[in-house]
Amino acid sequence: MARNRFFVNEIAEEVALTGDELRHAKNVLRLGEGSEIALLDGSGAEYSAVVTRVERDRMLVHVLGRSEEDREPRTQVYLLLGALKGDKTELAVQKAVELGAAKIGVFSSRYCAAYMNANKLERLNRVSREAAKQCMRTVAPEVVYFEKYGEALKSADGYQNKLFACEFLEKSEGGAERLSGPCALVVGSEGGFSEEEFALAKTLGFRGVSLGKRILRAETAAIALLSIVMYGLGELR
Ligand code: SAH
Repeated sequence: MARNRFFVNEIAEEVALTGDELRHAKNVLRLGEGSEIALLDGSGAEYSAVVTRVERDRMLVHVLGRSEEDREPRTQVYLLLGALKGDKTELAVQKAVELGAAKIGVFSSRYCAAYMNANKLERLNRVSREAAKQCMRTVAPEVVYFEKYGEALKSADGYQNKLFACEFLEKSEGGAERLSGPCALVVGSEGGFSEEEFALAKTLGFRGVSLGKRILRAETAAIALLSIVMYGLGELR
């Protein structure tokens, strides 16, 4: 059976679980002395460990060994998504992590009706860590926020393939299904994009992609585009 997995900042012979990870280990899973667990430090490695002591504000674990896990996607895929209302951004982050996104950027744009603050961003990063653990990834993708749409687009500089899901485009400007190399994908919020926003993306090297004749909800569009791209990159098979 797969061991319960926990993220820690640094690996040493003796490590303490604190904060969210402590709460999960102690209060939810009720782990105790002798429980075997796995630790992740975000480097791609996984460490086997055993709980040695449970205290009020920390759980001490002893690291036994290290193994390289190979569950991370071979290609970097960066999802840029307009901030969504309610808990829709959380849903999109969770699915993007499962599908193998390496990084997630959330941005505000002209027709975006959701707002962001430090708490919400921390919550999104927590969702990313939980999703990473659940789907057996060894790295939790970082979620970053851009107040300015232009900055979000510029954060994709250097990606070999830059795709822009455009709801008012009749035909894709080149496919999304057979790519190689790092990819940056842009998907709008519920309000969609303005013509000017699409034009700006094109000047920065993005290609417009149509996802068909129906207008998908933003979270559906993000999941669909990510799935198409990941499949094309050889990941989802
Ligand atoms: N409010 C807009 C729809 C926004 S849909 C309208 O009424 O037209 C939210 C986002 O999902 C869009 O900005 C786009 O990035 C993506 N999307 C949804 N359907 C799409 C489609 N058929 N093709 C390409 N992108 C799509």
